[in-house]
Amino acid sequence: MPTTLRLGDVEITRVIEFSDISPMTTDVFFPGSKPEEWQRHAALLDPDHWDARTGLTRVATQSWVLRSEGRVIVIDTGAGNGKYRPLQPIWSYLDTNYLDNLAAAGVRPEDVDLVVNTHLHDDHVGWNTRLDGRDWVPTFPNATYLMPRPDVTYWHPDHLHRTRFGRGNQNVYEDSVQPVIDAGLVTTWHDSYVIDANLRLEPAPGHTPGSSVVHLESGGDRAVFAGDLLHGAIQIHEPHLNSCFEEDEDGARASRARMYAYAADHNALVLPAHLPGHGAFEIRREGSGFALSRWAPFSRS
Ligand SMILES: [Zn+2]
Repeated sequence: MPTTLRLGDVEITRVIEFSDISPMTTDVFFPGSKPEEWQRHAALLDPDHWDARTGLTRVATQSWVLRSEGRVIVIDTGAGNGKYRPLQPIWSYLDTNYLDNLAAAGVRPEDVDLVVNTHLHDDHVGWNTRLDGRDWVPTFPNATYLMPRPDVTYWHPDHLHRTRFGRGNQNVYEDSVQPVIDAGLVTTWHDSYVIDANLRLEPAPGHTPGSSVVHLESGGDRAVFAGDLLHGAIQIHEPHLNSCFEEDEDGARASRARMYAYAADHNALVLPAHLPGHGAFEIRREGSGFALSRWAPFSRS
C-alpha cells in the first residue's frame, strides 16, 4: 500500500515520527470512556488503536507532507529529538529517525517551503527546530512557519500559569517556537488563512485556543487535516469523548462535531495527527452520530 495519495492537484505523503503502544490506559487517555464503549468497537480498534489484552491505547505522531502548486508543505512537526519535557516523559529526549523518514519521502529540510503548526503543543512543533551545538535552530531554514496567533499568545511562557496544561507544555515555546520567531520565519494568522488555491487554514478552537485545521479542496476532492480534533479512533464512533489534553472540553467537542459534519456531508478524507493504523479515514452519518466509512489507503503503521 502506498504512503502517498493524490487528491485533485495535491499529493499527500504520510511521514511517521513514531507509532507505538502508549503508556496510557483507555480511561486515562479518554477520561470517562467506558469499557463497554471500547468493547463495542473492538473490531474497529484492536489491534491498531487499542490492545484489548492490556487495555493500553496506541498512538502515532506523524506529519502530513503536501505538494501543492509547486511547494512542499509540512503539516505538524511531531515531538522532535532531544527535547526536555518534564511532565511529558514519552516526548522527552526522543531520538527518532524522523528526518530519515522525511528523506525517504523525497524531502530534505531545505526543500520545505511552508510549515503549518495546527496548534502549539509540544508534539506538533517539535521538529520546528533541531539542536545545533547548544542552540535550537530552525530545522527548515527556507520555510515560512504558519502559527495560529491565539496559541502564540496563550502558550507564551509569561501566560503558562493561566493555562490548564501549562506545565505540560513547559520549555516548548522556548525551544520550538521562539527560535523560529527570532529567525524571522514565522507568520501568525487568525480567523482564516488562504495557503493557495487548494488549501486554507480554518480555526477549530477547543483543544487549544488556536487549534486549527487545513481544508483541501481540489478537482472535486476534499480533505481535512484535523490536527488534534481527535486523538483516537474510538472518537469516530463516540465523538463525545475527549482526550485528557483539551484546554476547553466543550469547545473541543463542538469543533470535532463541526468537522465531522463537514467531512460526512462533503465526503472529505479526515487526516488527524495521531491516528495509528491507516492514519486517516472517511466518515458517514449514522443515526444521530457518525460511523467509519473506510480507512484511507495508507499502509498500516
Ligand atoms: Zn497532539
